[in-house]
Amino acid sequence: TTTISPLIAGNWKMNGLRASLEEISALASLLTTGEAPRALVVVCPPATILHAVASSGATSGILAGGQDCHPAASGAHTGDISAGMLADAGAQFVIVGHSERRTQHGETDELVRAKAEAAMGAGLKPIICVGETESERDSGEAESVVARQLAGSIPDAGGQHEVIVAYEPVWAIGTGRTPTNEEIARMHASIRQHLVERFGEPGQTTRILYGGSMKPMNAREILSLENVNGGLVGGASLLAKDFYTIISAV
Ligand code: PEP
Repeated sequence: TTTISPLIAGNWKMNGLRASLEEISALASLLTTGEAPRALVVVCPPATILHAVASSGATSGILAGGQDCHPAASGAHTGDISAGMLADAGAQFVIVGHSERRTQHGETDELVRAKAEAAMGAGLKPIICVGETESERDSGEAESVVARQLAGSIPDAGGQHEVIVAYEPVWAIGTGRTPTNEEIARMHASIRQHLVERFGEPGQTTRILYGGSMKPMNAREILSLENVNGGLVGGASLLAKDFYTIISAV
């Protein structure tokens, strides 16, 4: 089996003012005084503090990411942010296709793919999110839904550019519920198979993150599963102490 360096990304969503940079400082000191982290550490804060988070990374190693980007490079898109702007602010990653974007903003696989392409064009690594709803899982469609999302959301250049896939069952996000270890391992194996069939060799080393109620309590178990190459963490990434515990569980 190929070794893939794990990555833990925090998704702050619409949480975090400038005052929250104290959590970044706290995380930075945990990361620099403790044992060296065995994972790449990424924080995706609101865009208003992205530059500050990215700047703090110079000494702590914390990498910064955006939470979304527009598919176009520039233009008449009031309120939107381009991938190039995120890169300009210091981001190296950007989340695309998060289920909250898909449901609250009606984002389709086609749009997510366009956003991922824009991200790659700007030199960012897209973290492409997929995941089934609870009713899709209950009706036995979880793997087929995810396969369709992967086929539609990952650009064809996904073999040449580094992309990251995040499997986030919608019903596990912010609920405190998670799939069983077996269910996670089965889904990640199915995602791996899809990536290898589509991209060949590079599909072997594409990171597949798990996301959905990852907490200090369950991180170690989930992160030890086959084909789980890290995590995308929402709520538990807001407190430096909890996020650091998860990072240390790698
Ligand atoms: C997320 O929204 O990406 C997420 C994983 O959230 P939480 O950890 O809060 O479930």
